[in-house]
Amino acid sequence: MSVLSQLVEALRDGSIRVVDLTQPLGPDTPVIGLPDIFGQSPGLTMDVISRYDDAGPAWYWNTLNLGEHTGTHFDAPVHWVTGKDLPNNTTETIPAHQYVGPACVLDCSADTAADPDFLLTPAWIERWESEHGRIPAQSWVLLRTDWSKRDGAEAILNVDESGPHSPGFRADASELLANDRDVLGVGVETIGTDAGQAGGFDPPFPNHTTMHGAGKFGLASLCNLDLLPATGAIVIAAPLKIVGGSGSPLRVLALTPA
Ligand code: MN
Repeated sequence: MSVLSQLVEALRDGSIRVVDLTQPLGPDTPVIGLPDIFGQSPGLTMDVISRYDDAGPAWYWNTLNLGEHTGTHFDAPVHWVTGKDLPNNTTETIPAHQYVGPACVLDCSADTAADPDFLLTPAWIERWESEHGRIPAQSWVLLRTDWSKRDGAEAILNVDESGPHSPGFRADASELLANDRDVLGVGVETIGTDAGQAGGFDPPFPNHTTMHGAGKFGLASLCNLDLLPATGAIVIAAPLKIVGGSGSPLRVLALTPA
């Protein structure tokens, strides 16, 4: 039997499950807020074109208005200035095979419960690898923080007088993953792939700076990472083929052993 017919059989008999890593996308979807001097990404609005009425008696459809980086979404290398001159750096030009890869799930949920500003370090990654093996090249690294279990925009953004507080990556961890491990990219449960406080880091937003400069991708606002094994799942994360796009909302699916 070919690998693909085995896969079809395994999907049918339930020994491989499809896990949806995607958050619902709607007007309540939280979006990142930047300091006032910068342009802001709007939240999603949806306007009915017709709904079985005079404007379209037999059909229903909507107009969407939203930023590319809204809800569960993909970051392309061109999103960051460090990746602006790389080849194949937009949602339209990234080779499609790079949207599919094995997943390494790094469970930092205990760390982030203790410290919302938790940053992944090289030592943390190497400890994970001593248990699960080296992170393979061209894999997705998914940071499980249980942030997706937080209820509502306020708890997700977690802003106080010193700004947003949410977990992310220390610069040297991003460098290890991008340059030494050659991952496809990183996926997170928070609304961006950098920590809430990362605007004040040196460099600012080090994960974006490093990953996109190395031609790597980002996935933000994932959920259900707690349903995946540390290794052994496959993630499919293909953005809309927006011409010149810096990213897009997308449906992220994982194939995982039951
Ligand atoms: Mn983004």
